[in-house]
This record gives sequence, C-alpha cells and structure tokens, in this order.
Amino acid sequence: EKVVSIEYVLTDDAGNVLDKSEADKPLVYLHGARNIVPGLERALYGKTVGEEAKVSVDPEQGYGKRVPGRSWQIARSTLPKEVTIARGMQLTASGPDNRKIPVWVTKVQGPTVTVDPNHPLAGMRLHFSLKVVAIRDATADEKAHGHAHGADGHAGH
Ligand code: ZN
Repeated sequence: EKVVSIEYVLTDDAGNVLDKSEADKPLVYLHGARNIVPGLERALYGKTVGEEAKVSVDPEQGYGKRVPGRSWQIARSTLPKEVTIARGMQLTASGPDNRKIPVWVTKVQGPTVTVDPNHPLAGMRLHFSLKVVAIRDATADEKAHGHAHGADGHAGH
C-alpha cells in the first residue's frame, strides 16, 4: 500500500474553482483506502511521481447523486455555544439507528439551523487537474488506521 501526495485543482463544469491544494501542502492520502472519491482514486492507479492528469468524475464516482428533500432543521441551542455555525460547515448527526451521519449546514436563520446529508459537491461532475508529487510506502500504523499520517508519516496517533 502506498501513500500518495498530489497537488490538485478541482473545478465544476463551468470552470469555477471549488477546491485546491495549498501551495507546498499537497493532499496526502492512503491509496486503496477510499480516502478520496472513488473516481479520482481509480484515475490515480498506476500513476508515477511527476505525472500530471486531468480527470473528470461523474457524481456516482464522486460525492454521490444529490437526493432532494433530505434536509431538516435543528435548534441552534442544541449545538455547542462556542462553535460558530456557518453555511457549509460539516456536523455529525445521529441517524435513526444511532449511526453517526455527516450533515452539512445549508442555512442559518436566527435560532434555526438547516442541515442536509447531501455532500455540498453531491450531484456535480468534478474536474480535477492534478500532479503526483510523491509516493511512498505506507507505514504499518497507516495501514492499520486506513489513512495517511502526513507527508513524512510522522504525524502518527
Ligand atoms: Zn491514524
């Protein structure tokens, strides 16, 4: 198993930049562990250091299809006071079976916060322009945890 570092720019169909890696701070992920969306991981298979690629990923291989009508409202008072709740923020909700599910804040209006389990990028085709900047073997810890521990593998826990 390999830990791969990539620089990337993510755009939508219209070319708007949705996300990108910061300068000198590539995205570091454990290949094969579903740390990144499936379509991107598949496209990176077999790539070598220095290789550049443009990859378009359909929603099904990205953040999923957007399912409408799944949002709900919660009272601001049920959330920690010290946290600033803003649109786009990710929270964790308890599902019907007490399973933890990620939700995203779509609206904050007075005492009411609207959350939606759709990822903000659900339903979108994702266009990645990327470059592989490093590949190294995963450490035993990383394999056990299923994620990378920083570029050097030193940020273990
Ligand atoms: Zn870990």
